[in-house]
Amino acid sequence: MNETNAKPATIAAQALGWIDGETRSIVAPIHTSTTYIRDPDNQYRTGRIYARDNNPTFDQAEAVLTALEGGHASLLFASGMAAATAVFQALAPGDHVLAPKVMYWSLRNWLMNFATHWGLQVEFLDMADPDAVQRAIRPGATKLVWIETPANPLWTITDIAATCAIAHAAGAAVAVDSTVATPVLSRPLALGADIVMHAATKYLNGHSDVIAGTLTTREASPLWARIKTIRAQLGGILGPFEAWLLTRGMRTLFVRVRASCAGAQAIAEHFARHPAIEEVLYPGLPGFAGHAVAQRQMTGGFGGMLSIRVRGGAGDESGERPAIATAAGVALWKRATSLGGVESLIEHRASIEGPGTPAPANLLRLSVGIEDPGDLIADLEQALAKQ
Ligand SMILES: *Cc1c(COP(=O)(O)O)cnc(C)c1O
Repeated sequence: MNETNAKPATIAAQALGWIDGETRSIVAPIHTSTTYIRDPDNQYRTGRIYARDNNPTFDQAEAVLTALEGGHASLLFASGMAAATAVFQALAPGDHVLAPKVMYWSLRNWLMNFATHWGLQVEFLDMADPDAVQRAIRPGATKLVWIETPANPLWTITDIAATCAIAHAAGAAVAVDSTVATPVLSRPLALGADIVMHAATKYLNGHSDVIAGTLTTREASPLWARIKTIRAQLGGILGPFEAWLLTRGMRTLFVRVRASCAGAQAIAEHFARHPAIEEVLYPGLPGFAGHAVAQRQMTGGFGGMLSIRVRGGAGDESGERPAIATAAGVALWKRATSLGGVESLIEHRASIEGPGTPAPANLLRLSVGIEDPGDLIADLEQALAKQ
């Protein structure tokens, strides 16, 4: 038994057990140098030349993530958006890509308004329906299928294995935004995906103090080689301090995600039968549309994210007013965007997404942290009681 054949929770806690070769410290140093000395005979034997190409502080975080995802290699990026857009930028003008109608809002915006100007043919569809994917895919022309599961802000579940089978038969690669599932609950590469993306800003770092993104590939491929070049040349790299914080954050990934899942499950079950709540959207509820698929492809829980739809009243059937007022009336939950931190967040999602959002007017998105679930339930109860 050593760190590389240990269970994922052990790998994360010990960050692969790396010991610094110079000082024997169990926590790696932060390398701030932008450049490296050239050998007198004009060689660069360490393989390091300049820190835009790679920085030694990235190595441990990338290695831990590669181990957790069961992949071939990983890359850190300056943000989740930098990581996600690098995948699309590695395609060629004219390439056809499939993306979900329900997905992380900023990336959907970029695909609609920017990627299309670059010549990508982006088609949005119901990714949760494999028949819709089968109908839309164009063998030879479709180069990438983008999946997000569970997907913001309705927590729509996509069957990764079924979608990969369809995509691969047509010659398309599959990338999965697994930010919400985390490597604790889902391993998309084992289900056939080619690339996994994380907004490491969220659960991987977990403390709402780093913006970062990651990509992990199942194998060395021409697509991966182009992505590596894009990071080095466009320069969307992480700072060394942020990379170091990310390694530290991942050490507690498993305990944090398990606590968030338990809290989210308890909160979802509590409000599923609540007179002030019209609907609870959470993959862990047996009545949820994607529950059976989630049960198959997620292990150990259904994630820390859920949404509640506040019931409207006379004169406001949409429920928008009581939803916004509920978010205004909480004390422990923090009214803020983002997710995946140790502190619980609440957000009226339609307000931030604007026109065209799939979020109903009465939807509140909840990111469940690691606080006592009873406290979180009581806080929501008192806010709802004021409506
Ligand atoms: C936050 C988020 C992103 C973008 O990550 P940033 O680090 O904010 O750029 C992408 N996908 C999902 C699911 C996210 O939650």
